[in-house]
Order: sequence, then C-alpha cells, then structure tokens
Amino acid sequence: MKTLKIAIQKSGRLNEKSVELLKNCGLSFENYKSSLISPVSNFPLEILFLRDDDIPEYVQDGIADLGIVGENVIQETEVEVSYLQRLGFGKCSLKIAVPNNDDIQSLAGLNGKSIATTYPVILGKFLKENGIQSDIRTISGSVEISPGLGLADAICDLVSTGGTLKSNGLKPFADVMSSEAVLIGRKGSETEDLVLELIQRIQSVLRAKETKYVVLNVHRDNLAAIIALLPGVKSPSVVPLAEENWVAVHTVIPERDFWDRISQLKQAGAQGIVVMPIEKIIL
Ligand code: ATP
Ligand code: ZN
Repeated sequence: MKTLKIAIQKSGRLNEKSVELLKNCGLSFENYKSSLISPVSNFPLEILFLRDDDIPEYVQDGIADLGIVGENVIQETEVEVSYLQRLGFGKCSLKIAVPNNDDIQSLAGLNGKSIATTYPVILGKFLKENGIQSDIRTISGSVEISPGLGLADAICDLVSTGGTLKSNGLKPFADVMSSEAVLIGRKGSETEDLVLELIQRIQSVLRAKETKYVVLNVHRDNLAAIIALLPGVKSPSVVPLAEENWVAVHTVIPERDFWDRISQLKQAGAQGIVVMPIEKIIL
C-alpha cells in the first residue's frame, strides 16, 4: 500500500500547531526534532520536517504529497500546487510599513522610494498592479531594522500584532496580502483516497474547534424560546429530567458568537449551563 508523505515546518511559528493538528486527527507519531522523517504508526503516512521555504517546491515536485505552509510562502515561491484546506492558524498580513514620522498619504508616495523585504515576488506584483515604481531591496531577514539603518525608506514584512513594527518606530501603511497556514497537495493528489481520508479528518477537527457542546436545563414553558435560539448540527436533543416539566437540552454552538448566545439563553430561562469542548465532528 502507498505511504503518503506530508511536509511540515521543522521549527518555527507553524511547527507546534501543525503537529497538534495532525495529532488531533488521531495520527500517532514521535515529534522528533532532530530527524527529518517521522513515521506514523496508525496511518500510511510519513511526516517530513523541513524549513518552511522548501515545502512548496517539495510538494510541487512530488517529494512530498502534502504540505502545511503559510500562503505567503506559496505565493512567493510561485509553485503549481493544489490548495486543499485553510487551517485557521499562522494568521498574519504582509504589510508595507514606513517610519512613524513619514507623512506619506497614498501608495503613489512610494514612487521612487526603496522598500526592503524578504518577499520580492509578492511585493513586485503588488506594486505593478498599483502602477507604482519603487526600488525593491531583497534582504534575508531583520527587515524591520532597515529604515533605521538607512538601508531603505520603507519595508514590506509579515505582521501579526504589530508589536515588532512599533518597537522599531514603524507604522503600517498598506496591506499587501493576508495569510494563514494551508494544506497543499501535489497537483492531482486531491482525488487520491488516502489524501481524501486525511482531508476529512482535518476538516472534522477544524469543525469541532469552531464549536462547543452545550447542555442546559429549562422548564418546558420556555423550551420553544430556547430552541429558537439554537442552531445545532440538526435540531437539539431534548431529554426529560426527573423533575416534572423540566428538560435538558443538548446542542452545539459556534465559538464566534458564543457569549452573546449564552446570555440570550439565560434570559430565555436556561439554567445550569454546562459547556464542553468537542474533539471531532464527523458529518
Ligand atoms: P524556517 O526556519 O522554517 O524557514 P521562518 O523563520 O522562515 O522559518 P517563521 O518565522 O517560523 O518562519 O514563520 C513561519 C510562518 O508563520 C510565516 O511564513 C507566516 O506564514 C506565519 N506567521 C504568522 N505570524 C507571523 C509573524 N508575525 N511573523 C512572521 N510569520 C508569521
Ligand atoms: Zn522560512
């Protein structure tokens, strides 16, 4: 039987979440930091630990069937791969930033200026699309210190909280792209049975993460009002309690509007609300 290979980042911002996702899919493997390959004992899969920059090409060339990597890296390497699933972690934006005292008003203000970046391909396309001519200075790291050193007028770099920009006296000025970790596959791999099985497992973990399991007690008089507030996978389960005219309602609630929903339920008569994490939702 064929063994799939999935490439993930060896160390860095995406490593921990990538390992956690695969473990939550029920895959059993050692998280060897020192070796390149780790076999999965309960699924025909091997995990390759690589630098993130190498992952898109390994997948394009078929050395790995699948990979987990930031969209920013895929776009920068301009590879031909299939996007299989957005993964909801490693979120960041590629932004152009300028020194705090720069009074630049519009993108046109970048004409003739120099911009330091480790993303020359993405930045080049963005400037071209906007009809801007700047001097792109490609450097390999520590982009945020280049204006302070007089190496460039502006930078184009990944930002999540903005803290690094701030501590280097820079302010974000324009968004170039937003990014998150994605599952990619070799072109054509998306129809293979093992790949489909793995995608389904990943989706069931992601769905579960977005929702909570909620059990609450309510008097039958208030039941209709409570049900009207609940989405649920289908309709909620209603279980009679020992106390007459009281029932327990079991349902799932999306994480995003969780607190609003809970306070509405309380107002509608819900009592003894218990909230539990969900491991997987298989549709
Ligand atoms: P490697 O050693 O694998 O080449 P790296 O130093 O290039 O690692 P990391 O800094 O670990 O990369 O970032 C990996 C990915 O995490 C980025 O490509 C990006 O998709 C994502 N990311 C999320 N937030 C940020 C952030 N604030 N700064 C940089 N990358 C971020
Ligand atoms: Zn890298």
